[in-house]
Amino acid sequence: MQEGVDPFFFTWTAQNQAAPIEIVSGEGACFTTSDGARWLDLGSMVWNANLGHGHPGMKRAMVAAAERNLLAQPSSVFPEKVEAARRLLAVAPPGLRDGKVFLCLSGAEANENAIKMARLFTGRRKVVYRSRSYHGATLGMLSFSGDARRKPFDPGLPDGICWDDHYSATPDLEPLLRAGDVAAVLLEGIVGPNGVYVPPRGYYQEIRRTCDRHGTLFIADEVLSGFGRTGRWFAVDHDGVSPDLLTCAKGLTAGYAPGGAVIASGKVAHHFDDHVLSCGLTTYGHPLTCAAIVGAIDAYEREGLIERAARLGAWLEPRIRKLGRDVRGLGLLWAIEFEPARTQQVAAELRRRHVHAFKREGMLFLAPPLVIDEPTLEEALSIVGDALDAT
Ligand code: PLP
Repeated sequence: MQEGVDPFFFTWTAQNQAAPIEIVSGEGACFTTSDGARWLDLGSMVWNANLGHGHPGMKRAMVAAAERNLLAQPSSVFPEKVEAARRLLAVAPPGLRDGKVFLCLSGAEANENAIKMARLFTGRRKVVYRSRSYHGATLGMLSFSGDARRKPFDPGLPDGICWDDHYSATPDLEPLLRAGDVAAVLLEGIVGPNGVYVPPRGYYQEIRRTCDRHGTLFIADEVLSGFGRTGRWFAVDHDGVSPDLLTCAKGLTAGYAPGGAVIASGKVAHHFDDHVLSCGLTTYGHPLTCAAIVGAIDAYEREGLIERAARLGAWLEPRIRKLGRDVRGLGLLWAIEFEPARTQQVAAELRRRHVHAFKREGMLFLAPPLVIDEPTLEEALSIVGDALDAT
């Protein structure tokens, strides 16, 4: 092992350009690193720490689950697994509440399994995805993402249809479905890492109607936009629409354990009553995942965090819009655009001020934990404003 070099890979970066930090403690929207610096977490770690750092209820839930020392295999049934699925169905969009939950460990896995279910259900193979989209880093999900990060692996899996959507109130999806060979349309509730594009009201109702006309399933990828991020449980709730399959991860366990899930409507779920569900994982329904799901849903409900995100989002909107000319978002999910040439500098200025937030070519994303308070948000806006002014 090379002296002074971390013996593991850093992701999405050349290894000698990684910028590691060691978090030693945290509370709410702030964390402390080993050098004693206090950081503002405006990215909710990887858009997943919706409950913030050091959440007492989550700590209790995880300790209790670890102390039970339960080993389980995919066909095991235990109270936390039943409760995790029940609680998830209870907060799902209404059309999914008569359905079933498939458990996994990540967002990419959730999407992969949703697509497999859609193919098994419809007997079709094709999948429509947006030209601006990200659905995960596996080979399969990169093949059905419009993200530039798919390039080294192109052409990827066959049967993807890239849709150049412009988020208009009358989405032009019909021509892609007319041949009747599309199993599923896979759409993020709100486009996340590719720019936070908020569709107009009525958009998902139109998607729903178009899919229904052609026997195509609608999969809503709520991995990033779920669990209060946009001020509702799920982004499709803004439109009062239920997809056929909803995928989630990130806020599902709020970062306290690996976790992902597919919620299938009753119609899709019952298909598998007498057809084999050719999906599975060794760690399907792991006890720690189930405990984290129950703990997180408990916290969202008890602390009124979904309503809080909506309230804070309304407070934030006029203030954040002052930080740039092109600012998009909803609830506690925002993107600020600037000239791409400034990206490195913006990143350096934010780091210097101990602000954790995602940056991509010409874009800064702000997505703080839902537990953040107004004074901390005020502080965050002022620091981000200074960092942008300094570049
Ligand atoms: N879908 C969306 C919309 C995402 O933003 C992400 C991750 O950022 C994923 C899927 C993949 O999730 P994971 O990294 O847990 O596989």
